Amino acid sequence: MAGLTGRTALVTGASRGIGRAIARRLAADGALVAVHYGSDRDAALAVVAEIGQAGGRAFAVGADLGADDGVDTLFAALAVDLRERVGELRLDIVVNNAAIGGRAGAIDTATPAEFDRVFAVNVRAPFFIVQRALPLLPEGGRIVNISSADTRIAISSELAYTMTKGALNAMGRTLANAVGVRGITVNTVAPGVTDTGKLGWLQGGPELLAATNAATALDRVGRPEDIADVVAFLASDDARWVTGHLLDASGGMFLGPRMP
Ligand code: NAP
Repeated sequence: MAGLTGRTALVTGASRGIGRAIARRLAADGALVAVHYGSDRDAALAVVAEIGQAGGRAFAVGADLGADDGVDTLFAALAVDLRERVGELRLDIVVNNAAIGGRAGAIDTATPAEFDRVFAVNVRAPFFIVQRALPLLPEGGRIVNISSADTRIAISSELAYTMTKGALNAMGRTLANAVGVRGITVNTVAPGVTDTGKLGWLQGGPELLAATNAATALDRVGRPEDIADVVAFLASDDARWVTGHLLDASGGMFLGPRMP
């Protein structure tokens, strides 16, 4: 597929996990991809190299999105790289994927500092990334925010994190209505449990994995590519008539008991 040839894409948190798979897929579809990382420059450069080896185009940009100047840092780096590579400052696709705190925020243990940090990275940064990206997005531009199925499933140990993802869900609908007149779509993807190799508890024993599978209609946990394929659709021309949508990409987690 080369449906994104000539387009530019920013994928935040693309140094590993789901973001890495999204960056690889958008590049395979023809986009020039900015592979954003927070702290792991070597991992981001490895993703850029993988994309290059597969015949795609990518470059790495680093910024701590929890820092007050994180979004400024990101766009300063982007400006330099985009001008150099495409001759203009244009972004066609923005994927807000970077996030922290999957296991953070229980009501009895969360601290104000932890709460502020998870909201800074997961909510404030996507908001201001979109603010900075909007002047660069042409008609047909795409914004995709990565939320979580946690907003549908109550997991008490992840309360603050879940609240950040609820904010993204709300942002998606409202923003879609605000920017639709410019032909820009805004959609939200909510993954379920996705094995990125970093979810330690998934390696916690076969019983836990079996229980997670059993709670999922399609009887397995997700793979990063399962999410990347959904994002690629929303970034494509085929999704031109889809906006303000929250798409559950969880394989059907906790749909209800399986009746015999
Ligand atoms: P991950 O493996 O933990 O990777 C997180 C990415 O975000 C990394 O590239 C990391 O960059 C970046 N990042 C973290 N803190 C940052 C900061 N302060 N500033 C800038 N970048 C930062 O994440 P994942 O599991 O692939 O999840 C990706 C997205 O899917 C997230 O939005 C997550 O909430 C959502 N999600 C995941 C699951 C799941 O089961 N995996 C389920 C539901 C939703 P560095 O490593 O370079 O610092």
